[in-house]
Amino acid sequence: MSDPCAIPPKTLSVLVPAPLGDTYDYRPPDEETPGIGAFVEVPFGGRTMVGIVWGEGKGDVPESKLKTILRVLPAPPAPDVTRAFVDWVSAYTLTPKGAVLKMLFGNAKLIEAKKKDSCACPIVDPDFYRPELSADQKKAADTLTEAVRSHKYSAILLDGVTGSGKTEVFCEAIAECLRQGRQALVMLPEIAMTAALIDRFAARFGARPLEWHSGLGDRQRRLNWRAIASGEAKFVLGARSALFLPYPNLGVIVVDEEHEAAYKQEEGVIYHGRDMAVVRAHLGNIAVILSSATPSLETLCNAQQGKYSHVRLPRRYGAAQMPKIELVDMRKHDLPATEFIAPPLFEALKQTLETQRQSMLFLNRRGYAPLTLCRACGHRLQCPRCTAWLTEHKQSGRLHCHHCDYSMRLPEKCPSCEAEGRFAACGPGVERIAEEVKKRLPQARCAVMASDTLDDPKAAQTLVDRMASRDIDILIGTQIMAKGYHFPLLTLVGVIDADLGLAGGDPRASERTFQLLQQIAGRSGRAEDAGRVLLQTTSPDHPVMKAMVKGDRDAFMRAELAEREAYRLPPFWRLASLTVSGIDSAQVIRATQILADAAPKDSNIRVLGPAPAAYARLRGKYRHRLLVQAPRLVNLSSVIRQWTSTVNLPRNLRLHIDIDPYSFM
Ligand code: ADP
Ligand code: ZN
Repeated sequence: MSDPCAIPPKTLSVLVPAPLGDTYDYRPPDEETPGIGAFVEVPFGGRTMVGIVWGEGKGDVPESKLKTILRVLPAPPAPDVTRAFVDWVSAYTLTPKGAVLKMLFGNAKLIEAKKKDSCACPIVDPDFYRPELSADQKKAADTLTEAVRSHKYSAILLDGVTGSGKTEVFCEAIAECLRQGRQALVMLPEIAMTAALIDRFAARFGARPLEWHSGLGDRQRRLNWRAIASGEAKFVLGARSALFLPYPNLGVIVVDEEHEAAYKQEEGVIYHGRDMAVVRAHLGNIAVILSSATPSLETLCNAQQGKYSHVRLPRRYGAAQMPKIELVDMRKHDLPATEFIAPPLFEALKQTLETQRQSMLFLNRRGYAPLTLCRACGHRLQCPRCTAWLTEHKQSGRLHCHHCDYSMRLPEKCPSCEAEGRFAACGPGVERIAEEVKKRLPQARCAVMASDTLDDPKAAQTLVDRMASRDIDILIGTQIMAKGYHFPLLTLVGVIDADLGLAGGDPRASERTFQLLQQIAGRSGRAEDAGRVLLQTTSPDHPVMKAMVKGDRDAFMRAELAEREAYRLPPFWRLASLTVSGIDSAQVIRATQILADAAPKDSNIRVLGPAPAAYARLRGKYRHRLLVQAPRLVNLSSVIRQWTSTVNLPRNLRLHIDIDPYSFM
C-alpha cells in the first residue's frame, strides 16, 4: 500500500522523436531519477519509445493520467547545447520539437549497442602530415586556428578562389581543435562529394573521418552515432543532418561550399544547414568556418557588416593560374536541331584531345531530352501528376518526371492525335551531349556524371579515379561534378547552356548561375597547364556573363546586392513562403485566400499573393502560395506562428511554411 503522506515524486518532461510532439510529463521510475538530458524509454501512444528528459515536468498532465518512465538507457546524456539547439530550430522553423529531435536520433535504433558492435573509432592525428603552407595560406590558417583556440563563438568566411587551398587551410583549424581533444565537424552539401574529401582528410590526419549521412547502413549508423555521442569520434564528415548529433564537446564546424543551395532541407524540418551551423556554433560558443570560392550574398553581407570575419585567399596555390574564360555567342551559330556543341567549343575539344589533356562538358540537365513532342499535333508529353514535362532517359529507356517518381515507356501513338512514330526529342540532357560527342569525336573516351548515373558515393569515386588515371578524355555531367574535385589534367571546360539557370522567378537566379559557372570553370587548369573555359550563351550581355569574362566577382556581387536592397529581398529583407497544397484545386485556392485575409495588419509585413506556385501541381497536389516580406528586425517566425494559429485549415490540406525560402518552385 502506498503511503498517503509521502511527497509525490517530482515529474519530468520528456521529448520523444514523434513528428507532431512537444514534451510530455512522466513520473520518474522508482529506482532512480534520471537527470536532464538522459535517454529514457517511455510508454507513448500505445507503444514504447526512446525519448530524452527535457526538463522538469510542466504540470499539464493530471496526476491520475501520469505514466512512468520505464527505463533509463545506458547512454551519455544529450548535452545542454544540443537540447537548446533543438528548441531553437523548432521555434525558428515553426516545426514541432519532436520532429527536430528525430534528426538527433538519426533514423535507426541507435542508442543502445548491440552485442556484436565492438566500436573501433579511427584515431586521427592532427600532425600526421602537415603541408608547407604558402604565406597567404599561413595567414588565413592563423586566423582560423586562433578562433578555435579562443573557445569563443566566431563566424569566419574563408573566401578563396578555386584551387587556392581552402581545404588545406581549414584542415589547420581542424588540427587545432583535435589537439585540444575536442570534436570537429565538416559539413558538405552533397554525399557524392564525401568520397573525394575522405581520402584527402585521411592523408592529412592519418585516418578517415567518421561519416554521417543518409548513405550509411543501419549498423554503421549505430556505431557512428554512439562514437559521436560518447565523444570518442573526434572528426566527423557529414551532411547537414550531422549538425543535430549530440556532440559532447564540439570545437569547430566547417561548412564547405557554404553557398550551396543543397544545404537547404526542403522536406520535413525545413532549415538551412549553413544558417543552423552558425546558430549551433553560437549556442556552443565555438568557431564556425564558412568556406567558398563564391560566397552567398547572405554571407558576404554578414562579412561586410562585420558580423563575420573575412579571410581571403586571392590566388591559386603553386604555379596554377586562373583559367581564361570566353563566351560563345550562340546567336551566331546555326546548328542542326540534333547538335548542341558550336564550332568554337568543338574545335577546343578536338585540340584538347589531340594534346592528350582532359575536357569537361557541363549541362545541368539529367537524361537525354527535357521535352518530347508530337510533330503531327504539337502535343507535349507531360507528367500526369505535376506541371512538368517528362524527360527522356535513354539509359532506362523511359520518360521520367524529375519531380515525382512517375515514369513511362515512350508511347507508340500520340495520346492526343494518335499519330504513330511522330515523336521528336527536343533539347539536350547530358546523355544526348554524350551521344553527340561519341558521334563527332568517336576516338574520345567519354563518361557521364549525373545523380542518376551515380547511385552511391563509390560510383563518384570510380569516375574520379578513372579521370585521374587518364581513362576518360571527356567527362560530361551535371552540377554534381562542379564541386570539390581536383583533376590535374583537366584543361578545358565547356558549358553547353550557360543561360539555363537564369530563367524563372527565383530571386537568386543570377547569383546561383554565377556561382555555378564559377565552380565549374574552377575545375579547369588546376595544375601547371593553363585552363580554358568556353560558355555557350545566347545572352552575352547579361551581367553574369560579363562578370564571368572579366573575372570581376566583387563588382557583380555589389550590383546584385544593390538590386536585392531595391527589391526588398534577402539578405536585406526577410522572406517566408506559405504554400497550401491539396488535391482539390478550388479548395486550395479558397484556403490560401482565407490565410491571406488573416494576415497581420502591420505596415512592416508585406504579403504577396495568393498566386499559384511555379509548379502549380506537384505529385498530384495543387499548390497556392503567399510570399511574406519583412524588415530584418522583425521576428518573422513569431509573426507567422501567431498568424497561422488563427486560421484553421481543413485537415485534408497541408500548409508548408518555409522561413528564408531558397526554392521558389
Ligand atoms: P580549394 O579547396 O580552395 O579549391 P584545394 O585545397 O583543393 O583548394 O587545393 C588545390 C590543390 O592544391 C590541391 O591538390 C591541394 O592539395 C594543393 N595544395 C593547396 N595548398 C597546398 C600546400 N600548401 N601544399 C601542398 N599542396 C597544396
Ligand atoms: Zn511528376
